[in-house]
Parts: sequence; C-alpha cells; structure tokens
Amino acid sequence: MKNRTGTDRSKTKKWDRQTQMVRAGSMRSDFGEMSEAMFMTSAFTYETAEVAEARFDGRAEGFTYSRQTNPTVAMFEERMALLEGADVGRATGTGMAAMTASLMASLRAGDHVLAARALFGSCRWLLDTYLPRLGIETTVVDGTDLEAWKAGIKPNTKILFTETPANPTLEIVDIRALADLAHENGALLVVDNVFATPVLQRPMELGADIVAYSTTKHIDGQGRCLGGIVLCSKEFDEEHLYAYYRHTGCAMSPFNAWVNLKSLETLSLRVHGMCDNAEKVAKAVADRVVDTRHPDLPNFKQQNLARAQMDRGGTMVVFELPGGRDQAFTFMNSLEIVDISNNLGDSRSIATHPWSTTHKALAEEDRLELGITPGLIRFSVGLENADDLVQDVMQALDKAGV
Ligand SMILES: *Cc1c(COP(=O)(O)O)cnc(C)c1O
Repeated sequence: MKNRTGTDRSKTKKWDRQTQMVRAGSMRSDFGEMSEAMFMTSAFTYETAEVAEARFDGRAEGFTYSRQTNPTVAMFEERMALLEGADVGRATGTGMAAMTASLMASLRAGDHVLAARALFGSCRWLLDTYLPRLGIETTVVDGTDLEAWKAGIKPNTKILFTETPANPTLEIVDIRALADLAHENGALLVVDNVFATPVLQRPMELGADIVAYSTTKHIDGQGRCLGGIVLCSKEFDEEHLYAYYRHTGCAMSPFNAWVNLKSLETLSLRVHGMCDNAEKVAKAVADRVVDTRHPDLPNFKQQNLARAQMDRGGTMVVFELPGGRDQAFTFMNSLEIVDISNNLGDSRSIATHPWSTTHKALAEEDRLELGITPGLIRFSVGLENADDLVQDVMQALDKAGV
C-alpha cells in the first residue's frame, strides 16, 4: 500500500521500530538528498488545469495546499504512524492543537466525555470550560480507579480520555482496561502519550483508538519547536479527523516537521539515556525525600501496572518537599545545572513547580485533589552526566534544608 509519502508500507511495516525511527516514511526527490528535504511551500502548482481538477477530485494523487498535506509533514506523519501502529497521523502546530483535534474532530453537542482528572492543565480547561460551553458534557474521575470509570459511563459517552503516566503526579492509568470499557460501551479511548513517549509505551497495542502527542516534549526534545500529532485508524481519519484538520487549520509547519523528523532518528537513544539518568536521580532523591515518585522506586504504588504497560519507568521524577512552596522555591533557586522551566522531555534537565506554573489555572482545591501541592517538584531528567545531576540536586536539597 502506498501512502502520502509514496513509500511502501508493506516494507517499512516489517522493520524494527529502531529502523523505523531512523528511516520510515523518508522519500527522496530526484536530487537524491541524504537528509529529508524541507518543503517550505504553502501551495503547489499543476501542469494543467485538468491536473488541478483531478487532484481536487481525489482522482489524482499529489499535494495541493500545506494546510492539508505537505511532503515534509507527510514524512513525519508516516514515520510516527508506523512507530505507533496507526494507519494515519495528522501533525499539528502544537500539542494542544492535537489534543483539541482528538476530541473536537468527532464530538458534537449532546455527547459525553469521561476523563481522568489528572491531566495536563490545558486539557483540563478543554474539559472543564470549553467543551461544556458547546453543549458537550464532561466528567472527570480518579484515573487510577477502574470502578469510578465504570460508574462514570453514560449512554451518550463517546470518548474516554486519559494520559498515563499523568502530569505531574505520575499516576498510572490501565490502558487495556479502559480500552475494553470504552469498546463495551461504544466509545473510543484517546490516550495522551506524552510522558511515556512512543519508545516506552504503545497505547494502540493495548487497545487505544487514538493516540495524541505534544511533539514539543521528548520528540523534538531539544527545546526548539512546538508541535503535536494525532494518530488514528483510516476510518476515524476519513470520517472525522481529516475534515476537521484541513478546515480548522491546525497543521504543523514543514520546518517543524523537518526538525521532528531529524529528532526521531535519535529519540530512542535520548529517551533511554534520560531513563538511565532518571533512575539514578530518583534513587538519590528518595534517600532524602520520603515522597519521591518514579515507577522504578520500590515504594511506587502502581509498579506492577507501570511494568505491564511501559518498557521502562520513564524520564520524570516527582517529589514533594515537606516545607511547601518556600522550600520548593529555595531548592529550585539553588540548582546550578538544572534549569527552571515548564517544558519537559528535553535533553537539558528541568525543574518545574506545577503549583505556581503549569497547573496554576486550576482552582486550588482541584490542584490539591490531584495531589499538586505547594511543595511538589516535577523533575524532567535530561542527558547531562548522571553524577553531575545527582550532585546538583543534592547540594540544592542541602541549601533548602531538606
Ligand atoms: C505539553 C503537554 C501538552 C501540550 O503540548 P503543547 O505542545 O505545549 O501544546 C499536552 N499534554 C501533555 C501531557 C503535555 O505534557
């Protein structure tokens, strides 16, 4: 089967994922360039008016306008689709554009969305504020409580939405159980797979219908460009996603797609390197801070589930300093190598204070219900030398009086 990139999936599908990350979806122009070409063009031209007509009819293959498809973007979409085991990918300008598309493409007034309450802050805004404004009902439940999910299902439930591990608390949600629950009730399961990355967790293999990413995080992973992608079946794309995508204009820029294509070549190396470091940092912090969370720590509550659906524990370490906001701020201000930022999944280690930044838009009681306390630190472990990182964190804990 040929796809938009003209590459042959019957071959690329058989490749190991590592080979796919480096090569899948690449197409060469007549110049035989080694690296993928960057097609910075808004529109395309046609040899004749008849060719233009045929392309618009769908009788002839080819590109028409980069709001719909673009060769560089198509290469990135094809590579991501293969990695995820999806038929189709649609790359978007930001991660939030992908999350919004994964919901808005098919929902209509009168539908109901059931979601985990521990979500990226802007995803909670979509569910709590925006969708209800359009007559779409939403309910959030404790993502770790399968009974709560079951009880939350209504006759009009169309989508179950979750992220796992959840941002920033690292709660693990059982993807397979949710996929079964969704399908028994005629709904679809959408998974925001940002924290786990396609290297560590493949929700579609566990039954998810739609997987969405912020490619801003590990996929670019070098702090350069915003982006997102929605991955789904051919049927969902044809029935819902493509029309939404082309008519609402959430496309990714060819430049960002090119950056992300190059980034995918090293994604696995970077994620595994970050996991190695995260395991060391988690262990060192756990010796000092009682509430330290990482799936590989012996006290991690959902370790069995994390191991069942993730290849490794991931790149994030979360811990709660008992002295609250003041201690958290002193700790962060004392870091010498690690940056203070709200990004994550970067090759540079980053410390975030979710209470005052990423989750500030949530009401205080909602933050507390989610376990986002004033002392909570989210630590995205990068690719620096592990001993340097551990030393930096230890001296900052000393200064904060932990
Ligand atoms: C960052 C993030 C998003 C949003 O992505 P942007 O690229 O910032 O728009 C969505 N979900 C999760 C889990 C994220 O970490």
